Amino acid sequence: MGATVIDGKAFAARVRAQVAGHVAGLAAQGIVPGLAVVLVGEDPASQVYVRSKGKMTAEVGMAGFERRLPAETSEAELLAVIAALNADPAVHGILVQLPLPAHLNADLAINAIDPAKDVDGFHISNVGLLGTGQKAMVPCTPLGSLMLLRDHLGDLSGLEAVVVGRSNIVGKPMAQLLLAQNCTVTIAHSRTKDLAAVCRRADVLVAAVGRPGMIKGDWIKPGATVIDVGINRIDAGDGKTRLVGDVDYAAAAEVAGAITPVPGGVGPMTIACLLANTLTACCRIHGLPEPEGLTV
Ligand code: NDP
Repeated sequence: MGATVIDGKAFAARVRAQVAGHVAGLAAQGIVPGLAVVLVGEDPASQVYVRSKGKMTAEVGMAGFERRLPAETSEAELLAVIAALNADPAVHGILVQLPLPAHLNADLAINAIDPAKDVDGFHISNVGLLGTGQKAMVPCTPLGSLMLLRDHLGDLSGLEAVVVGRSNIVGKPMAQLLLAQNCTVTIAHSRTKDLAAVCRRADVLVAAVGRPGMIKGDWIKPGATVIDVGINRIDAGDGKTRLVGDVDYAAAAEVAGAITPVPGGVGPMTIACLLANTLTACCRIHGLPEPEGLTV
């Protein structure tokens, strides 16, 4: 294996420590950043995420607020909860855990969040701000991926970047961030012709597809930096399951210059960036200087 392994777990721990340091500084001024998570229904994976977000929020010294609502919650009830959190001065970040039950409109809920408190960066205003190169709340997974890339490569200017996947939460904002870093960006998706050839052009390859091991070793340009966003649970063959990314890791690591593992790559960065975004939102709301290096 030739590639450098990009240790997202260690980097995320540094981000969280940096956040905790700033939070301690704010406490001296009587300000406690607060993150509210709204969970509707009983989705088991969402419950795990919400628990772990609550734990990490407390660890960095922030206030955590959970609003657990029954699966049969109506649109009006959900919007009322969001409106109350918008109005609550103790809350600086609001996250509506997705997916919502099928009868609820996720876009409506997300766009009801005060954009200043939209720490997921999914509100249409933040999407527009990011797309036009203005100060936005930046979606956590792409932000975390960019932090890893900049830490590893420094200046990204002029690099060929290929993002595989065009979702609103990962692929598109990732492409916007790379464009803002002066990369030449290609977005690939399920209708892309000769995906292997497109990927082979990439100095920076970001895979955000949701298909285990889809990106093969011989799709990777020698020396490229590979960011594997995919999180896929597969049968490990012994009655257990294990997590793998969208990239065939063992083969890719023979060719790439650097690669993020799954688990331990982008995943830990997502939650660290959620905390970083909450701190950023708190500073902006209070008109305080923003901590350096925690956003773009
Ligand atoms: P979506 O399902 O919303 O999007 C997947 C994208 O992949 C789509 O744009 C789709 O194209 C494209 N795609 C699907 N099949 C192919 C194919 N055969 N060839 C090329 N492109 C294809 O997923 P998300 O963006 O939400 O998530 C992607 C992955 O990242 C998942 O594994 C998810 O679990 C993981 N993830 C990880 C996070 C983390 O914290 N590390 C956070 C969020 C997601 P099309 O648009 O044409 O359908």
